[in-house]
Amino acid sequence: MQKIQMTTPIVEMDGDEMTRILWKQIKDEVILPFVELKSEYYDLSLPHREETRDQVTIDAANANKKYGVAVKCATITPNAQRVKEYNLTQMWKSPNGTIRAILDGTVFRAPIMVKGISPVVKTWQQPITIARHAFGDVYKATEFRVPGKGKASIRFVDDQGNTLLNETVYDFECPGVIQGQFNKDNSIRSFAHACFRFAISTKQDLWFSTKDTISKVYDHTFKDIFQEIYEQDYKAEFEKLGITYFYTLIDDAVARVIRSKGGFIWACKNYDGDVMSDMVSTAFGSLAMMTSVLVSPDGNYEYEAAHGTVTRHYYKYLKGEETSTNPVATIFAWSGALRKRGELDGIQALSTYGDALERACIETIESGVMTGDLVNMWEGETPAQKVTSLEFLRALRTRLEAALNP
Ligand code: NAP
Ligand code: MG
Repeated sequence: MQKIQMTTPIVEMDGDEMTRILWKQIKDEVILPFVELKSEYYDLSLPHREETRDQVTIDAANANKKYGVAVKCATITPNAQRVKEYNLTQMWKSPNGTIRAILDGTVFRAPIMVKGISPVVKTWQQPITIARHAFGDVYKATEFRVPGKGKASIRFVDDQGNTLLNETVYDFECPGVIQGQFNKDNSIRSFAHACFRFAISTKQDLWFSTKDTISKVYDHTFKDIFQEIYEQDYKAEFEKLGITYFYTLIDDAVARVIRSKGGFIWACKNYDGDVMSDMVSTAFGSLAMMTSVLVSPDGNYEYEAAHGTVTRHYYKYLKGEETSTNPVATIFAWSGALRKRGELDGIQALSTYGDALERACIETIESGVMTGDLVNMWEGETPAQKVTSLEFLRALRTRLEAALNP
């Protein structure tokens, strides 16, 4: 069989623990036999981040900007325990945080749906993708406890030292709490561009929700910026594709989401996105079946699984036990990246391969062959057959070979 040729490399970011083991198995079983892979490889494993003083993460993010498409393996975000375990000289920052900051990107999380594993919400027939604005608001707020009687105000002093705004927040008659939040037009704009671009890229409707009726300046600014950017830059393209941009209040959105069939992107402010993404992903089933893509406002893409390095399975693996870790979300990171590369470079065979790889994954599970995490959720007619990660990949490979060489 002739392998699919690539022209531009994808940026490959390797990672840690169990997902690093899966990374190689996935490449060996379902990528390299089919694709003449061109990739620029960055090892983001914690030991190598330590060795390079985290320069490798910055280099990888810059390569993502240069080439446009990256695929990333899960990585450890060090905490105090990891500093000891890996003998680190510093508690290196979250690689995802570093990459997101350099790309100025927005994260889109979408579940992978299969027949036989039904979402908790009966009406959901298609995935709901959540886009979270991961900047500012309560996550960067300043807050105090107010000790007792007295007046609290917010003030804005311009860079010349003139006080332009000064408002009493509350005249306290007793102890309480106070919080100051902010966001930036730049960041909201980047978020809006990433959302509109991703909607076009995946040909799905875009919903956006805030509480603008109550927050008449803060949340209303989000609403206005989205509307302005939509009209200026994306309306024509949306109409051509037959997709819609829909703004509604957050509480109305929640009610509509629950009654919906799915199949759209829901853009949320930082806190709403934090909460709603956990709710939506839990309702869809398993973290192991959730994909994630970072999209920058200027159109760079980084694909990954939403789950972490699956540490508990890795320790079993180190003891020589065969593990049944689910590789599906990581496979979808690869298929997503290769399909996008195919689209950007006009290589139809690469995009077709990405689709075929995803279909083969879904069909393998639908035939009853799955990893341990899915067995408990299985409601399909054929009995579930629990397999190891490698057995799953081999079954997938057989199916993919048949699909690509009918
Ligand atoms: P995790 O790796 O997602 O795993 C949590 C648990 O979820 C696992 O122990 C496992 O449950 C289940 N699970 C997750 N993915 C699975 C899969 N593919 N197949 C089967 N089961 C799966 O989260 P964590 O344990 O909180 O974090 C571990 C490390 O990952 C941490 O060092 C963290 O910093 C890092 N992390 C990285 C990223 C990223 O790079 N994007 C994201 C999150 C966490 P059972 O043990 O019950 O089988
Ligand atoms: Mg959360």
